[in-house]
Amino acid sequence: MEPNGILIYGELTENYSIRPVVKQLLSKAVELKEKIWNQRIMVCIIGPRMNYEKIIYELGKYGADEVVIISDNRITGYNCNYFPKFFAEIAKKYPPRIILIGATVQGKEIASYTATKLDTGLTADCTNLDIGENNLLLSTRPTFGGQLTADILCRTFPQMATVQENVFKEKEIEHTATAIFSWFDINEEENKIRIIKSTKKETKSKDLASAKIIVAGGKGACKDNGFALIYQLAQKMKAAVAGSREAFELGYITKSQQIGQTGKTVAPELYIAVGISGASQHLTAIKNSGKIIAVNKDVNAPIFKQADIGIVGDLFEVLPELIKNFETVNKEENDE
Ligand SMILES: Cc1cc2nc3c(=O)[nH]c(=O)nc-3n(C[C@H](O)[C@H](O)[C@H](O)COP(=O)(O)OP(=O)(O)OC[C@H]3O[C@@H](n4cnc5c(N)ncnc54)[C@H](O)[C@@H]3O)c2cc1C
Repeated sequence: MEPNGILIYGELTENYSIRPVVKQLLSKAVELKEKIWNQRIMVCIIGPRMNYEKIIYELGKYGADEVVIISDNRITGYNCNYFPKFFAEIAKKYPPRIILIGATVQGKEIASYTATKLDTGLTADCTNLDIGENNLLLSTRPTFGGQLTADILCRTFPQMATVQENVFKEKEIEHTATAIFSWFDINEEENKIRIIKSTKKETKSKDLASAKIIVAGGKGACKDNGFALIYQLAQKMKAAVAGSREAFELGYITKSQQIGQTGKTVAPELYIAVGISGASQHLTAIKNSGKIIAVNKDVNAPIFKQADIGIVGDLFEVLPELIKNFETVNKEENDE
């Protein structure tokens, strides 16, 4: 069968809704499809037996032509024994020209397994996708420590790329998708990995991918309880807490809270950067934010070039003032 179209891994959340990155990849795929016309966009979903009508409708709204659903009652959540295997099987059954996968924990595992099984290349953590010469996928990603970006043309099919959450914007269109149901054998005895128990990790902060407001701290806040002020401000603003790589390396945030090239890409309505200098590896991951406010005591800090509002000052003076103001605003709202 001739390779046709774009195949996307349709990652589901714990509550069996579509992860935002799938819609973002679909919107990008619609743009790519216009350049390599007469190609279909297919999404592959793996999950338990349930009603997928709403999910199919939703995926159609973002440009999916076909949704392949592999469902089985024994699938209760992500399983590294089946998911990569089933996805690679679908890629063999309906050979695509391009495979796009979100660079999530699941996505990274599925992408690397599939690339190995299909004996093709994989460009990871892309920051842009386009169609280049000979209708080939042109993947852009940072290189040389983020100082340069490389445009990569993979000449083997399928051409595979992973993209972090929030790199592309979701865009609804008038479109409907059709469903294809597929089954694979599950032989639990063959499983090399058994999940004995799952425990949800306790986290002090909200999910960054869906947060409307993020307060992020850098090395400047990693002393004298600077992060305590960041958590206080975030609490008053109902915001999520994040930070720079320095903040992670100094132990003030977890890896999942790190923003940047080697962390998460975010697109909140408001990003407040406190004591963050604004290195290119950090800025690239916040460029889709609605508004950026920077608090830094160095007037020449590069963050001010990207910020919509810059506050030049010591965070230990600025943050208590902001916290006090939000306390007043919150009190007035509660009194009304
Ligand atoms: C391959 C590679 C990948 C990388 N990936 C990432 C990544 O994913 N994310 C990331 O963030 N970085 C990443 N980096 C590191 C990046 O280059 C920077 O080193 C890092 O972002 C700097 O973090 P920072 O801004 O917290 O610290 P600094 O650059 O040290 O800045 C601290 C800032 O705090 C200000 N400050 C100090 N005290 C105060 C105060 N009291 N009040 C107000 N302001 C104050 C200072 O003026 C300064 O601007 C990467 C680097 C490489 C080479």
